[in-house]
Amino acid sequence: MLRRLSVTVAAGVVLSVAPAVAGLRTTPSFSVPFPCGQTWTGATRTSHRPPQAIDFNRPGDEGDLVVASAPGTVVVAEPDHASYGGVVIVDHGDGWETYSAHLAAVTVAVGDTVARAEAIGTVGDTGRSDGPHLHYEQRLHGRPMRTVFHARETPSQAVLTFRTAAC
Ligand SMILES: [Zn+2]
Repeated sequence: MLRRLSVTVAAGVVLSVAPAVAGLRTTPSFSVPFPCGQTWTGATRTSHRPPQAIDFNRPGDEGDLVVASAPGTVVVAEPDHASYGGVVIVDHGDGWETYSAHLAAVTVAVGDTVARAEAIGTVGDTGRSDGPHLHYEQRLHGRPMRTVFHARETPSQAVLTFRTAAC
């Protein structure tokens, strides 16, 4: 049973807050990793490596901007990884990292601080890829997790439509 903490946030209002516990998932608020006003298809499949990853596409997407899905610090910015191709990994704190792979261009450097929706690269077909798309992962302490956007978990074996925020 979790010990619960009481936090008084305003006169007469008391929230019950579970303390951080190893294994308890407290996902940051991740946004779909594209600029505002766009519609993308995101696909998950159990044959994917890792199976929790999501592949994003839209017609004519090669060269489209890829943006940070939450604020963070760039920890990997590699133009030519053997399997990921152009890849950017952003550290969002609390063990959370996002991976954006097969990028045509990597437009950030290790150590850069990025804001939510700030460009990090462009959609490409680099590394072990068979057509332009964005391969995207959310990892917790290095472990791939089912992707979550705005608190909604992406199901397994799904092809879904994602709309970014209105501009
Ligand atoms: Zn992929």
